Amino acid sequence: MPYPSPPVPYPETALLAVGAANIPFAMADRVNKGGGRPEASLSRRHILKGLATAGALAGAAATPVRAAKPGGWDVIVVGAGVFGAWTAWTLQQRGQKVLLVDAWGAGHVRGSSGGETRLIRTEYAGNELYTRWAWQSLAEWHALGRRHDIPIFQEVGALYLYPQDSARIDGSIALQRSLGIPIEKLDAAGMAARWPQLGLDGVSVGVLQPTMGALMARRSVQLLVADFLEAGGSFRSFAAAPPMSGRDTLEAISGADGETLRAERFVFACGPWLPKLFPDVVGARIVPTRQEVFYFAPEAGDTRFAAPHMPAWVDAGDPDLHYGFPDIESRGFKIALDRHGPKYDPDTADRRITDQGLTDVRAYLARRFPALAKRPLAASEVCQYENSDNGHLLIDRHPAWANTWLAGGGSGHGFKHGPAVGRYLADLAFGTGTAVPDLMLAAHKAHG
Ligand SMILES: Cc1cc2nc3c(=O)[nH]c(=O)nc-3n(C[C@H](O)[C@H](O)[C@H](O)COP(=O)(O)OP(=O)(O)OC[C@H]3O[C@@H](n4cnc5c(N)ncnc54)[C@H](O)[C@@H]3O)c2cc1C
Repeated sequence: MPYPSPPVPYPETALLAVGAANIPFAMADRVNKGGGRPEASLSRRHILKGLATAGALAGAAATPVRAAKPGGWDVIVVGAGVFGAWTAWTLQQRGQKVLLVDAWGAGHVRGSSGGETRLIRTEYAGNELYTRWAWQSLAEWHALGRRHDIPIFQEVGALYLYPQDSARIDGSIALQRSLGIPIEKLDAAGMAARWPQLGLDGVSVGVLQPTMGALMARRSVQLLVADFLEAGGSFRSFAAAPPMSGRDTLEAISGADGETLRAERFVFACGPWLPKLFPDVVGARIVPTRQEVFYFAPEAGDTRFAAPHMPAWVDAGDPDLHYGFPDIESRGFKIALDRHGPKYDPDTADRRITDQGLTDVRAYLARRFPALAKRPLAASEVCQYENSDNGHLLIDRHPAWANTWLAGGGSGHGFKHGPAVGRYLADLAFGTGTAVPDLMLAAHKAHG
């Protein structure tokens, strides 16, 4: 391998202990009563069937929950997006009896983790926490990939485009090199020689991270949940009502039909729905915004926009912060804007792209990827960011309930950190971790 890999934070034996083959997520709710392996052992055909019916953990008829022990679960995690899935998995690996619930299914289409691809990069303008978390997480994404036969991570590389050189760029590169992260700084001539299909108007510096790339978002969350079930975890299709307790702990969550689920600890990783569940505590500290994503079809036989001819890229000098991916799995060349769109309700809002959005993105393509500017739109997605005021994740203990934790505020960059978030939350919830002040409720203001 030409480049070093990130260090693995867990022993490989722990990660491999769950095996690779059994992926039961086309199944009904899976409640593991004894903590051992679930009964089903599925073939490759079932794996593919499971993928085809992705999200099928939702919609299954509710089955009665037998708690792992009298009195309830060790931990109930509400929300099977990337944060909840990694938290449930990590706690399960540490021997907790965990129930993961979701109102619509793991990595479902309207969740923020339900998209096709998410960028993993360690270029974080010198922010040490996120640089380290992304690098450590990459090891765990690789480990997840090794447990499965289909790609979780595509190492296409990540290229940052900057209008001019700066001390900040050099500081970020130095930090990454100190962590052993492969990284190259390029000038405009070097980039033009490597990627002649890229228009470099206004770009003078590039930073290339050859071992970064694209996480297959929805798929990786669903496979992780499948691993969690295989390792003895339980999943329920369950829509939690906003929780209530007059005490200093939360004892149970209730569903729409009044059913209650009890646990010693709770984690709410509800993404853009977190403000609805906790209007007083979270409220406008997290504001969902509408984000449009476009996939363009290159000319027949034109491979210039597919890996390895094109990396994932971020136009850091562009006011709209366009970013994108090469054509991966023949889905098309992906392009999106990191600029926040209008406020958005994840339950009711329209998920069609706008004509204006398409016109704007074509104008951008004409400048940066001219060969694609007039190519047909092959597919599109509308997703929501769940933004904090300052872009930091929001992870903290509930101010009134000592056994309850909140996790969200991915703010357009949270996905890659899923493994690190899972570890951080598991450490905090069991008193072995130290809270990072920037991530706490007190560090976040209501905004929007
Ligand atoms: C277009 C787009 C591009 C992005 N690009 C990147 C990128 O390139 N790199 C990157 O690192 N990040 C990126 N992100 C950000 C990242 O995807 C999100 O920050 C991350 O997926 C958030 O995960 P989550 O688990 O917090 O939320 P979600 O994935 O939304 O999960 C929350 C879950 O909670 C469930 N839930 C909510 N309410 C309830 C309830 N009452 N009862 C039961 N279940 C409930 C939901 O059904 C949902 O499944 C992007 C986001 C978007 C939208």
